Amino acid sequence: MIEAQGPLSIATFFTECLLHPKYGYYTTRDPFGAQGDFTTAPEISQMYGEMLGLFLAQTWHDQGNVAAFNLVELGPGRGTLMADILRATRTIAGFHSALQLHLIEASPTLQALQAKTLSAFNPTWHTQLDTVPQGPLFLVANEFFDALPIRQFIRDGQQWRERCVTVTEGDLTYALTEAAPHATLADRLADTKQGDLVETCAPAQAIAQEIGGRITQHGGVALIVDYGNRRSLGDTLQSLRSHHRVPPLLHPGLADLTAHVDFEALAKASPSAHTRPTDQGVFLERLGITPRANQLVKSLQGSALTSHIAAHRRLTHPSEMGTLFKAMGLFPASAPPPPGLD
Ligand code: SAH
Repeated sequence: MIEAQGPLSIATFFTECLLHPKYGYYTTRDPFGAQGDFTTAPEISQMYGEMLGLFLAQTWHDQGNVAAFNLVELGPGRGTLMADILRATRTIAGFHSALQLHLIEASPTLQALQAKTLSAFNPTWHTQLDTVPQGPLFLVANEFFDALPIRQFIRDGQQWRERCVTVTEGDLTYALTEAAPHATLADRLADTKQGDLVETCAPAQAIAQEIGGRITQHGGVALIVDYGNRRSLGDTLQSLRSHHRVPPLLHPGLADLTAHVDFEALAKASPSAHTRPTDQGVFLERLGITPRANQLVKSLQGSALTSHIAAHRRLTHPSEMGTLFKAMGLFPASAPPPPGLD
């Protein structure tokens, strides 16, 4: 592509690496767990999905036990999170009979894995949110937004040069476009200086706008959990292979690629009300992860007990995922704020 068309934007490179039909990272493999490249919160412990299930059920109840709604997950991975959410909500009267399950997943390989875990709930698969029918929306997205393609811009005076990917002597390298003004970055001239790098993610903003529009119109809630800051500043493009960070241009299609999520940009793009991004550890504690962990302890011993205690710590402790990951809720301004969030 570079030989034929010239340098690629980071966004095009990112999309080709993750989702190329034949060579894409997600299209061709199951990347999760000890054998894979990275481990996510739902894969660490069943308690994570249980807490998110309670979060959804409480919000559903607070909004009047909504009679019929779409339960949607963006990027469900192996389907573990949704399976735990559905197990944890089994005893909530009326919740299961009111829900229609919709899974948004671009990778055929992962769709097949999700079918194994979730077929009892008759899910419908989509590659984009827009084909999900209108109606009350209860949505979760765990480490989904970090997989959406970003563009990177470096400030040059009052203008911006875009970072792109080219080939130098057979290797992929970074290059910069000529400086140009960028209307969408006009507000970033106020909080950046010469040479600073900022990232934008138009697809993430479009999805937040769509979600917020549906929630405002029909009710519901969206819970977005990811790593990132209130506002993008600096290069956060990151590549993981076998649980180690590798240079992002080194293994196209063979390593995971992510970027930090700009929560402020998502909140701004959504027409709904939103909570503040809340530390994952605090959020899970407020929902009751410690009483749940203590309850599970009673049925565990030996190595299972040791790894259960380690999993609780990993999900909540500030030096592990507790503060790096944030949870943000989108909800209708007319409804009570969802539980556990600032
Ligand atoms: N939520 C899961 C998986 C996170 S990995 C977990 O926490 O374990 C990111 C997921 O999003 C994968 O399932 C990947 O295939 C999917 N994905 C990535 N980009 C996507 C896109 N543009 N559209 C739909 N799904 C996408």
